[in-house]
Order: sequence, then C-alpha cells, then structure tokens
Amino acid sequence: MTEVVCIHPWTGLVDYRYDTLDDRGIERVLQASADAAPLWAGLTLDARAVHLRAIAAVLRRRKDEIASLMTRDMGKLKRECLGEIEKSASTCEYYAEHAIRYIGDQVIHTEAKRSLVCYQPIGTVFAIMPWNFPIWQVMRFLAPGLMSGNVAVLKHATNVPRCADVLKSVLDDAGVPAGVFGVLHIDNQQAARVIADPRVKAVSLTGSERAGRSVAAVAGQHLKKCVLELGGSDPFVVLADADLDLAVRIAISSRFGNAGQTCIAAKRFIVVPEIADAFTERFVAAASSLPIGDPELDATGLAPMARANLRQELHQQVQDSVAAGARVLIGGVPETKPTCYPATILDQVHPGTRAYQEELFGPVASILRAHDEDDAIRIANDTPFGLGASVWTNDRARGEAVARRIDAGAVFVNALVRSDARLPFGGSKTSGYGRELAEHGMREFTNIKTLYID
Ligand code: NDP
Repeated sequence: MTEVVCIHPWTGLVDYRYDTLDDRGIERVLQASADAAPLWAGLTLDARAVHLRAIAAVLRRRKDEIASLMTRDMGKLKRECLGEIEKSASTCEYYAEHAIRYIGDQVIHTEAKRSLVCYQPIGTVFAIMPWNFPIWQVMRFLAPGLMSGNVAVLKHATNVPRCADVLKSVLDDAGVPAGVFGVLHIDNQQAARVIADPRVKAVSLTGSERAGRSVAAVAGQHLKKCVLELGGSDPFVVLADADLDLAVRIAISSRFGNAGQTCIAAKRFIVVPEIADAFTERFVAAASSLPIGDPELDATGLAPMARANLRQELHQQVQDSVAAGARVLIGGVPETKPTCYPATILDQVHPGTRAYQEELFGPVASILRAHDEDDAIRIANDTPFGLGASVWTNDRARGEAVARRIDAGAVFVNALVRSDARLPFGGSKTSGYGRELAEHGMREFTNIKTLYID
C-alpha cells in the first residue's frame, strides 16, 4: 500500500489522502467482479435497462456533490462538471432504450434453416481512465458496457480518486448488484498484473500515447483485446467562405474549455490566406477575455490545469516552440499559481516545432497558415494523430468533400467536435484503435457469435 496525496488544483493545498490497494484488496475486487459476471450476463436487456435508468436518476440527484468532487480532484469549472454529469446521465438513458438496436440478434439469410449473429458478453472488462473528464470518460465506457452484459473494474487516474469512489457509490445507490462495478486504486505496475489476470477478459484505455503503448503491449502479451482512445492534435480548418463569428465562438470553446485538457479539442487552427488575418484577430480578441479563476465561480472563464506538472510540461512545449520560431500573440507567461496558464495563441507554427508535432494538452492554440485549401488539407493530415477534426465553410458539399480527405476518426463540418452517445467515437493513427459508443463501440467487447442451424 502506498499513500497518495491529492493537491487541490486551485488552492494548492492538500485536499485528500488515500492508500492504494494491496494484493489482497485487488483480489477481493477481481473475485467480486468474476462472481457478478454470470449473474449480470444472465439478466435480460430490460432488467439491465432498469439499473441504467436508476444510475441516471442518482447522477442527477447527486449532481452538486459529484461536481464538487470533480472540481476538487482536477479543477474543472463547476458549470462544466454539471454538463458532464448530465451528459453521463442521458447516455445511461440512451443505452437503456437503444441497446437492443445494437446488440440484438441479427438474422442473416443463408442456405441454413436459420443463421444469425448474436452478441454475447465476455465478462470483466478493465477500464483505465484519465482525469480530464473524470465522470464522462468512465460512463462513456460503462453505460454501453453494462447494457451489453459485461461487468467492469476501473483504475482511474491517480489524481481523481474521489471521482472513482463517487461513481461506485452512485451505482450502489442505484441498486446495481455488488461486483458489477469495482474500483481499483492501484499503480501502473499493479495495473499490468490486473491485465494479466485470467478473470479479466479485455481492456479499455483512454489516456496518453505513452500509456497506450504500455497497456497495449501488456494486453498483447496476454492476447487480450484492447480499445485505445489516446491523444489528438485536432485540426480546425477554416476555409475562405467560413462564417467567422461561428468559427471563432466554437474555436474558443473547443480550445479553452476544460482548460484545454480535452483529447478532441481543436489544437491546430489551419487558415487559408483569404481569412487568415481576420480569423486570427478575432480569435485573439475573444481569447483575451477569458479570466482565470476559482473553478467554483460562475464568472471564471478559464479553469486551472489539473496538476502543476502538466502546466510545467505545457509551458516547456510553448518555450521550445518559440525558440524554434513560433510567435506568441497572446499569453505564454505562466501565472503565479502553479496550475494556472493563460489562454495562449501561437502564430507562425512551422513543421518540426513541438506545437506542430505534439499534443498541447492545455490552453494553447497554434495558428498554421496554409497556401490554399489543398495545402490546408495536407497540413491537417501532417500529424501523427488522427482523432477528430473540423472544417469551417458555408458550402456544406465542399465541407463534406474536405472532411472525407482528412485522416481522423471523426470530422465535423461547422460544428464542435464532441462525443455523442449515438455516434461511434475513436481515432486513427497514434490516436488509438477500436471504437466506443453506438453499434461499433457496443460490439467491441462482445463475443460476436455465429449460429448456423440446419
Ligand atoms: P496518462 O496517460 O498517464 O493517464 C491516463 C490513465 O492511464 C491514468 O489512469 C493513468 O494512471 C493510466 N496509465 C498511465 N500509464 C499507464 C501504464 N503504463 N499502465 C497502466 N495505466 C497507465 O496521462 P497523464 O495524466 O500523465 O497526462 C499526460 C498527457 O497524456 C497529457 O498531457 C495528454 O497529452 C495525455 N492525455 C490524454 C488524454 C485523452 O483524453 N486523450 C487524457 C489524459 C491525458 P496514473 O494516473 O495512475 O498514472
């Protein structure tokens, strides 16, 4: 057992301490999960749906308490916490109602008397989740996962222990049977042993590329399937005929919401010559009215980052980019509080600089100036990542044509890139593989079984 100390991102004070589990504690959680698996799998979809609706109701009833824990664990703005909790609740309801469409039997006509595909649960799925959307990332995995008949154990990020515990308590409160959802407060070495455990059938990770490589290697060694939702450096391509008011408004919320700590935030703003200066001026003006402050207060425009080391790393990326030729248009100077970083916009971000190549996981935007539309698409694809992307144009057909040429898991035209319970979510290239949500996500962790009856 190791003691972990959690620092409040805004006050900088020690706010919570807890111990990681020892081997006996891990064993208890894994065995409870294995025991619960056949019972949960044996429930009808309707019976599971009753539980999912109850989870949604408890999330809503306890939203203020949950939001406060989120803010204390990782510094998110109170209003963003409430939005995240509501999205989680409505996703539970969505899967309660629609799971049958995704995993109901599929009859396929062949020469046989009857042939079909059925989607059966596989048992315990191990979820390794990040701190940036500490409730939503878990529920995005859990709501469809529970409806598909699987049970889950969660290793949450070290800095959001209370978010993990409150989710467990929400499920208990909703009457979900013991063992269906377990929480493991463990470190990364212990996580590797959990992946190896024969009672664990598959792994779902959301986090950094570094974590993805490590988790996938261990899962591969034990021949276990994994779904990886990793980082991104999403392009935001502004074409000559874009509605700049709309584009700037969404650029601000995408890049600076959640203090810029979002995998599908727009990070590289690619502009064609016709609108490059106009977009940049308006973007800078809007970003300068985002006061950093106490995340509990409504007036705060920009939250602190989750941890001081994340800010340090971000500032290093900015400094290295500036040394390589990028120009700071706004921000770029760390605030006194060790987690606070101002809204920052870099211009003249050229290939080879860190801001061009890497994910900047904080409130820093990069402007990349393209020669024309084709060049903008080339730059959009000139990245190791392929998570999301957006295209801004008043011509929808043109927007769709450009979207089809961008190598990413999702491209939105004239809209904020976001996850949606009804649509599959995931990346290409080093942004990971596999999908969450919708039909594609629900089927990832099922045994897709063929039945042929003659
Ligand atoms: P990590 O990727 O390290 O953390 C995400 C989750 O993975 C946490 O639960 C973490 O646990 C776990 N993890 C990390 N390494 C391993 C491992 N080897 N084996 C098992 N589990 C592991 O993110 P950080 O918090 O360190 O953030 C660093 C960077 O990651 C960010 O700057 C950003 O670029 C990226 N990131 C991307 C996210 C996304 O949504 N795409 C989300 C979060 C981060 P623990 O906390 O105990 O290390």
